[in-house]
This record gives sequence, C-alpha cells and structure tokens, in this order.
Amino acid sequence: MAASPKEYASLNVRVTCLRVILSLIVVALFGRCAFLLVVQAPELRGQVEYQQSSGVEVLLPRRGQILDRNGKALAQSVEASRIDVRPAAIPPERQEEVATFLAEVSGTPTLATALLEKIRGSLVPFPFLRQTDMAIGEKVQQANLPGVDVFSSQKRVYPFGPLAAQLLGFVHYDFGGDQREELFGLEGLERSYEDQLHGKSGNAVYLLGPTGERLPVDPVEHTPAMNGNDIILTIDSVVQNVTEDSLERAAKENQATSGSAIVLDARNGEVLAMASYPDFDPNEWTAASPTQFKNNATQFVYEPGSVFKFVVGAAALEEGVITPSTVIHDDGPIEVSGWTFACPSEFGGPHGAQDLYNLFKNSCNVGFIQVGQLLGEERLRRYSDLFGIGRPCALEVPQAQGQLPPTEDWYDVLLATASFGYGFYCTPLQIAGAFQAVANDGRYVPPHLVKEIRDGTGKVVYSGESASTRQVISQKTAIQLREALKGVVEAKVPDSLKPYGVVGKTGTAVVYREGEATTLNNTTFVGAFPADSPRIVIMVNVNEPQVEFAYAVRVCVPIFMEIAGKVVDILRLPPP
Ligand SMILES: [Zn+2]
Repeated sequence: MAASPKEYASLNVRVTCLRVILSLIVVALFGRCAFLLVVQAPELRGQVEYQQSSGVEVLLPRRGQILDRNGKALAQSVEASRIDVRPAAIPPERQEEVATFLAEVSGTPTLATALLEKIRGSLVPFPFLRQTDMAIGEKVQQANLPGVDVFSSQKRVYPFGPLAAQLLGFVHYDFGGDQREELFGLEGLERSYEDQLHGKSGNAVYLLGPTGERLPVDPVEHTPAMNGNDIILTIDSVVQNVTEDSLERAAKENQATSGSAIVLDARNGEVLAMASYPDFDPNEWTAASPTQFKNNATQFVYEPGSVFKFVVGAAALEEGVITPSTVIHDDGPIEVSGWTFACPSEFGGPHGAQDLYNLFKNSCNVGFIQVGQLLGEERLRRYSDLFGIGRPCALEVPQAQGQLPPTEDWYDVLLATASFGYGFYCTPLQIAGAFQAVANDGRYVPPHLVKEIRDGTGKVVYSGESASTRQVISQKTAIQLREALKGVVEAKVPDSLKPYGVVGKTGTAVVYREGEATTLNNTTFVGAFPADSPRIVIMVNVNEPQVEFAYAVRVCVPIFMEIAGKVVDILRLPPP
C-alpha cells in the first residue's frame, strides 16, 4: 500500500529532522575530538604516561668478581630470585593455598602452618625467600599466585668456602633502589673495594597494558647497568690452600689460640698466600663469631721477641758499627739501669765469644743488647721504621699499626729490650715485609694483594705493580746478613730443601698481661729461600701454644719447611 501524500510529507519532515540531529551529533563529536586532540591532549598524554611509567624496572649491576692470580674465581655473583609476600593482596579463601604452595616449592613443606599464620597475622609485605635458586623463582612466577612477587636478585658465592676468608670478607644484602636487593661489602676486600666491585644500577621504562601487565614491546627508555670491576689478586689459591692447611693443623696440634702465615714473592712484594687461624666460611658468615673475621696476619699486634734481631743486625751492619766477624761476648748477666739481662743456661748461655753468625744461631740476648748499644736508639728506631715496623703498609685490607715509641722515649732499658724484640708492638705482616727487604737485596717492596683491576670490558684500570719501593739497606749488607742467618735453622732444613738453603730467624716472646709475665709464648719464624738468591719469603706466627717446649723452633719452623716444600712443587722452583 502506497503512502498518502499527507503521510509522505510527515515522513519527509521526520527524516529531515533525523538528518539534522545526526549532523549535530557528528559536529559535536568532531568538536569534542578536536578539543581532546588539540586542547586537552598534552594533559591526557601526561595521565597515560603517568600510568605507564609505573613500569620502571631497576637493572641491577653484576657485582665484580674477586679472582686469584690464575683467574680462579674466589668470590662471584650468580643470578638468583627473591620471593616476597604481600598478605593484603591475598584473598582470605586463597591464603592456605598460597602458604602451602610456597612452603612446598621452597623444599620446606613443614613451614606451611607458620607461613599461613604470618600471612593471616600481617598486612605488611615481607620477604619469604632471599637469594634463592632461579628455578624456584620461575616456578613461583608460573603459579601466578595473588600477593606473591618474584624479583630478580643476585647471590654472592665463595666457591672455595673458607679459603682466604679473612682476605675476601663477605657481603650483606640491602635495598639499593626500587625493591631490588643489592650486595654491599661488609668485611675484607669486599668492603675495602666496595666502590670498584659494586657497579652502577640502570633502569628500563616499560609500557604497561590496561591491567598493569608489561606490553611486549621494547622499553621506551633503557639505561643499562654498569657491572662492577673484577679484582685480580696476587694470591695463588693453591699456595693459599696449602698454607692454610699447614697453619691450621699446627695451630690445632699445639692448642694455639691464634696464628697466621704469609707467603711473599721476595722480589716484588706480591702476597701469594695469607692465612689466618681461626677462620670461617664466608658463605655462612652469620654462623661465625667476629673473632674469626680478624685477619691475624695484619691485625694481630704483639711484641715479636727475638725474630726482630735481624732488623737490629741489619742496621748495625749497614751503619758499620759491627762487621760479620766482630766478636761480641756473652760472659754472663749484664745490667742496664738496674735491670739484669742474661742468657740462662736453659737457652745455652752464657754464650761466650760470638761472631754475627753465632749471635743469630744462639739468639744471644746479651750479645744483641750490646749491638743495640753500639747502634744507639736513634738509629735502631730509624731502621725499624724504614723496615716498616710499627706502621701500616699499602696492603689493601684492614691492618693494625703496631707501636714504635718516638726516639725520645727510647731510654736505655727500652733500647736494651728492643734489641731482642720487646717494648714495642708490630704485626706479623710487618715482620714478613721487613724480611722481604733482606731477601730482596735491601729493597723494600710493600706487600700487596691486588695485582690488577679490570672493568666490565676486560680493560685493565689499575695495576698494582706501581707500588713505591725503598732501599733500606745496601745489597752488600743484605748479603752479609743472609750469610749470618744461615745457621739459625740449618739443622732443621729437610733434605728436599737442602739444595735451596734457608735463611731466617726464630722468635719466642713471653706473653705479658697487665705488666706480668705469663707462662705463654707467641712464636714466630720468618725466613726465605733459596738462601743465596731468595725467591720466596714465608712468615709463620703461632700464638699461645699450650704444649711443652712451645718455642718457635719447635712450633713454627716445621710449618715453614712444610709450606716451603709445597711452594717449591706448586711453583716448580728449580734449585739455584
Ligand atoms: Zn747469650
């Protein structure tokens, strides 16, 4: 049925009206669009970016490694996961599921109940697992549980356990930026080289989708992390290992309270090994006591006793107050300002007429008091200082200073006692360093531990070979002194070391407490080999051994010979 003209006119009016309305809507929409695009766009864009910039990820630097001289990693960082729990984001009906899953995935299903209580009892986020395996982190991630966050992290690992523990030190974990845990050095080289090892964080800004998920596109901003530098030590981990073993066994056999041993390259002061007893495992440092963290090679302070006589002899020869053949008499006790000093018969005294060789061999206190008197306090103090006694050297780990009194305090009794190693304080490292100068024809090279530092690209940014050196005594004096020191342990050198020859000096010092002599001794032996052209210096110090005849010659000399024999094998040192 066709529409009547009236009806048609009515329809036409309605269509026209509709057209007008539609046109108005279109115009309005265009207008709104134009307004949004032109006028409000910057503001809106800001809001969108604000929402998306919550996708900033902090990129952690890899902490640098600490390596031995042959490239073996002694401390390294491995990738790990950290799992945090946000109890407020876990719906009550899923709390048990979350607790059970986390307890099981971490290999401790029995923890489920305690974890559930913690989730129910707290609204504050807490870390559940730190420095855990990446595989566990991935499993948790895949489970996609509410209120459980997985972060990338790193774990510090010491692959050789207690090896060189006091040198390496250890790290702790703390929040550096964002929610990422970073490693910070707490002790040893980890602490003193924190600036080199740490590296610098970077970041990446990701676009996020409507529900906060990261969009699968490249980050809109990306500043890469700068990894920490690697520290290459002068330590030879094999030499370190045998040195620690020998020291520990001897310290235990002799029921000692503490001890240390140092192996130095005689020519350049490089520390090949530095052992301290008792030790600990830096992987489990929280289980150790702080006394185990102490590096007894550098932080133990003591009166060294007779081992110091080589410094007195060196100064006296250099200053020409004696020659190797000067005869010094020990005819019994001598008196200095009312104090009587003697070599008792139990130590072979009185020793009679002696040249320098026999003074050292007898370790004659009466004789060395006279050598000290010929030298005088100013020169004895000056040479002690030149040899590095009583002052820290350039070594890169914490050191005690010791104490060498100023010249004006060296009244005649102190001069007498200092001549056989009492009345001042030093560290075992200082004794080893002083003997290095004797072994190296009079040139002192400060003992040092860091051979090189390399950046992330392998470029050497520091080389330890520039350490400042000083001539302490002449080559002639050093040679004369080594000749005179040959008799000290001649009878104790094993057959395997006889082709090399050993020079050195023992020291057994009575321990004083509050001015009173105890029955305890601190024992030291420092020596070098081969005797005529030394390559290696070894110092052994064992404190308060509680056995009979607890003297250096019985406690320390065998350890020296044992370590020396192994060093010859490890470094394949041919006899001269
Ligand atoms: Zn004597």
